[in-house]
Amino acid sequence: MPAKVDMDKIVSLCKRRGLIFPSSEIYGGLASCWDYGPMGVELKRNVRDAWWKSIVHERDDVVGLDTSIMMHPGVWAASGHIDSFTDPLVECKSCHLRWRADAVEGQGCPKCGGELTEPRMFNLMFKTSMGPVEEEASTIYLRPETAQGIFVNFDNVITTSRKKLPLGIAQIGKSFRNEITTGNFIFRTREFEHMELEYFVKPGTDEEWLDYWVKERFDWYVKLGVRKENLRLRQHGKDELAHYARDCYDIEYLFPMGWSELEGIANRGDFDLIQHAKCSGKELSYYDNEAGEKYVPYVIEPSAGVDRSVLAFLVDAYDEEEVEGEKRTVLHLHRSLAPIKVAVLPLSRNEKLTPLAKEVFNKLCPNFVTDYDDSQSIGRRYRRQDEIGTPFCITIDFESLEDKQVTIRERDSLAQIRVPVKELKKVIEAKLKGEAFDASALWATRQK
Ligand code: ATP
Repeated sequence: MPAKVDMDKIVSLCKRRGLIFPSSEIYGGLASCWDYGPMGVELKRNVRDAWWKSIVHERDDVVGLDTSIMMHPGVWAASGHIDSFTDPLVECKSCHLRWRADAVEGQGCPKCGGELTEPRMFNLMFKTSMGPVEEEASTIYLRPETAQGIFVNFDNVITTSRKKLPLGIAQIGKSFRNEITTGNFIFRTREFEHMELEYFVKPGTDEEWLDYWVKERFDWYVKLGVRKENLRLRQHGKDELAHYARDCYDIEYLFPMGWSELEGIANRGDFDLIQHAKCSGKELSYYDNEAGEKYVPYVIEPSAGVDRSVLAFLVDAYDEEEVEGEKRTVLHLHRSLAPIKVAVLPLSRNEKLTPLAKEVFNKLCPNFVTDYDDSQSIGRRYRRQDEIGTPFCITIDFESLEDKQVTIRERDSLAQIRVPVKELKKVIEAKLKGEAFDASALWATRQK
């Protein structure tokens, strides 16, 4: 089943409206690296915040952590990343392009059809050296996942947080993987951001908790507006499981290039804590006071990508509609994800309108991310706000000077209501919390 939007349209909208730019563009760009522009940085921050809110703030069984990207190299030996974090790589003998062997269909090079070398295992971790002397002892790695920073702090968190198991530790941060094949915009890049939860449970309760987290994470995307029919679950086959996993589900999304992984939820068992205890010599276990027993917890890990989620939210929100004979492109982003919540748009740059428009802006901007725009025609300004998904636009017209009321236009329904300036903050607040747009019977509703 084809997805409804081409990736090219998403890439071009992102460039045009300041969401995402190619990295180092004035130097010709750097393959698969992207920069988030003024609108993109807000969207990305909102995705992170929505995750943190649902995983950490709205629960009392999860705490947060922020560990360093560079870690002791022993961590990666213990975790298995030095030996096993590899992909099979093949190279074309004619054009010398390199491919991930498991992504090549057929026998020859996907580009020129040339003969391919035998696969060899390629480690995906970026190596660098710490300190001024480049010698073997100073070799370190950029983390390929944030999870290991959590495992090595397990004891610190348990002893300081005064929490009982089950307990989750959550982290958001950059990860780096020297992927053989990147592409599909921000879907697979070599530098990206992870949102990971390690949820520590009593062995024997792990299967139940895996089911719980699979459902919880699936519902998170739906709650934030992703259409259910564009999401599906896929359980990993036994031959596909990572070296640490006992069981794993992928939440897949129908991206423009087809169904692909959006998030993975794995049962990591006690693999990581046992490995780190063995390699560090430090005991990593939990003493259950009530039961009077000690055990090594099992871990359920929902692991999502910030950038890949941003892409899914953009693709799902993108729409082209016809309104009164004109085409409009619109992002139907969930209110909590929209980069700008409200735009203040005086009907024109007429100097009589400016003071009231500025007054409205100053009243709103400490409370909501607010944009002020008085350039070009009102129609073009609406179009710009629609394209970045702004849920509410406020127009100040000449009537506003008389009756101190302004018009709020809602992005999806295009309905408009008239609201007194002094009520504006309260009304926008309620609408951003999800109050129906036409429910405000307090003031006259204008028909469009
Ligand atoms: P893939 O098979 O797609 O490379 P993976 O199974 O190796 O991903 P995990 O290690 O399970 O990925 O990472 C969890 C999540 O982190 C993924 O579902 C994805 O959202 C994100 N992620 C992983 N690698 C990348 C990458 N190179 N670029 C962007 N996001 C990534």
